Amino acid sequence: MYLASAKGNEEENDMNRKTSNDHWREKLSAEEFRVLREKGTERAFSGAYDGETGPGEYVCRGCGELLFDSDAKFDSGSGWPSFTSPIEGTNVLESEDRSHGMLRTEVSCGNCDGHLGHVFSDGPAPGEQRYCINSASLRLNEREE
Ligand SMILES: [Zn+2]
Repeated sequence: MYLASAKGNEEENDMNRKTSNDHWREKLSAEEFRVLREKGTERAFSGAYDGETGPGEYVCRGCGELLFDSDAKFDSGSGWPSFTSPIEGTNVLESEDRSHGMLRTEVSCGNCDGHLGHVFSDGPAPGEQRYCINSASLRLNEREE
C-alpha cells in the first residue's frame, strides 16, 4: 500500500530505495557511501559544509531531496553543519537510534533512506533543536542574494 503523495515520481523513488548497494557505490564517493548508506559519521571539522555560511538550499547528496535552508544553519561549534530545523514540509525522517550504547534520534532522508545525522535538543531558543548533519550527506545549491 502506498501513502498518498503529491510527487509524480513516487514509483521511481521507490525503485531507488530498493536498488542494491552497487547503485549507491557508483553514485557516491567512499565517504558519502559510508555515511549515507552505512550510517557513518564524518570526522568533526572535516566536512565541506561545517564552516559554510553562503546562502542556499541543502539537498540530499544521495537523491537531491530538499532538506535544509542556509537560513536555519548556525555555528554550533560541534564540527558538523548544524540547523535549527529542516525546511518546512520536507521529507526528513526522525527515528530512535540505540546504537553505541546511547539513545539518540537519527535523522534520515525520507526519500532514499540515506542517513543524515542526529537531532539533539540543545539548540538555540526558541526551538532548541540542533540538527547535527554530516556534510557528506548534503549538497549545497547556492543561491544569489
Ligand atoms: Zn535522499
